[in-house]
Amino acid sequence: GLSNPFRGLLKLGSLERRGAMGIWKEFFCELSPLELRLLLDHEDRICVESYSLLRCESLALTHSDGRFELVFLGKKLFLRAPSRDEYSDVPGNSLDWAPAHEPELDAIKEAVLYVDIDKTWVPFIFSLSLETLKCFKVRNKDKILSNSYGIETIQDIVPDTSLGGPAFFKVITSKAVLKLQAENAEEAASWRELLREVLMSYLESAEEALTLGGSLDGHSQVVLKNTVKENSFLLQYLVAIPTEKGLDSQSFICAGCSRQIGFSFAKPKLCAFSGLYYCDSCHQDDETVIPSRLIHNWDLTKRGVCRQALKFLTQIRNQPLIDLKLVNESLYEHVEGMGRILRSREQLKLLGDYLILCRSGALKELSKRLDHRHYLLECPHKYSVTDLRQIADGVFETFLQALLQFASHHVYTCDLCTQRGFICQICNSSDIIFPFEFDTTTR
Ligand SMILES: [Zn+2]
Ligand SMILES: [Zn+2]
Ligand SMILES: [Zn+2]
Repeated sequence: GLSNPFRGLLKLGSLERRGAMGIWKEFFCELSPLELRLLLDHEDRICVESYSLLRCESLALTHSDGRFELVFLGKKLFLRAPSRDEYSDVPGNSLDWAPAHEPELDAIKEAVLYVDIDKTWVPFIFSLSLETLKCFKVRNKDKILSNSYGIETIQDIVPDTSLGGPAFFKVITSKAVLKLQAENAEEAASWRELLREVLMSYLESAEEALTLGGSLDGHSQVVLKNTVKENSFLLQYLVAIPTEKGLDSQSFICAGCSRQIGFSFAKPKLCAFSGLYYCDSCHQDDETVIPSRLIHNWDLTKRGVCRQALKFLTQIRNQPLIDLKLVNESLYEHVEGMGRILRSREQLKLLGDYLILCRSGALKELSKRLDHRHYLLECPHKYSVTDLRQIADGVFETFLQALLQFASHHVYTCDLCTQRGFICQICNSSDIIFPFEFDTTTR
């Protein structure tokens, strides 16, 4: 039989094309799933030009009067629909949503989304895993990674119908605001829901890591999160030595700024704090003691860390987030110095109990010397990053000794405090004894 010339056509209609001199000329136009054809005369179907949609690089509305432009292999085509209704369904039809590639191995969801790049909707394949939202460009049938957003950098996911309808939404990360278009409203809703779930499960696991390190109450956690903000994902590395997963697991992208690293790009630098690789502007070889390595391996070496980790460690340096009894109690036994530190801190706590009750104002004096470390009077196992650094530098014990000396001198010479001493229950000697005298007293 006769072949149907209209088979497979999505749309027929007229369009005006702007010529070299800026003059608009009318063409008859056929849109098939693969091709856009401009015809001079639709009776005879004389085809003037045809453009393969596979080669269409971008499509943009340039004017509210129905003008739009298409780019094919770098060549721009300026078109105008005769009425607003006409042009408005051209974009929807010509967007290609077919996923022509195998999804990533760790993908929870992978599909084509169009991204608004300078008011042009450009197709990318988005792949969501439990750790990252990756964004690929398709070139010559290959998926090329063009951007990667760590889940921890995602701040919000919001629908945005103002971009064009219910299929549009925004993902707000610490680096950028992604304006996205899904194939339809259901797809957009499913993306938003999945992104939210992944973000929630990520935050929950980060919270668990945090509780392990410091057993903080809810209020302290909120305060802490506000202090460290976008760096809060680094909390998990505070008490756990990171496992280095290798540059390929990061898809050769800097964990800080998403620049490509490795091969002929910037030399990748390993951050000893996070175990992630960074480019040379995100990692400038700043060196510091790594808390997790000190805690678990008694490794006091200063190692290179990325800028973000250094900033994070500075933000939390004075907070007693690390509970050594919870994280690695055996350090007290294995390291002589740590055993001595524990003993001094237990003494200091007992001395503190005297000074807290003394009405002479000695506590105020002690507070000045504590240098904001009031937790030293509350719990002998809590450490801040500053404490660990001072331990590595060998000055923490001296600091404790000075505090002990001040506090015990007060108790021995204070009329109020000596009244709260004890008489030995065994020999009833007239000497007053105190519970912090570890060398001469036992309970
Ligand atoms: Zn970087
Ligand atoms: Zn006193
Ligand atoms: Zn006695």
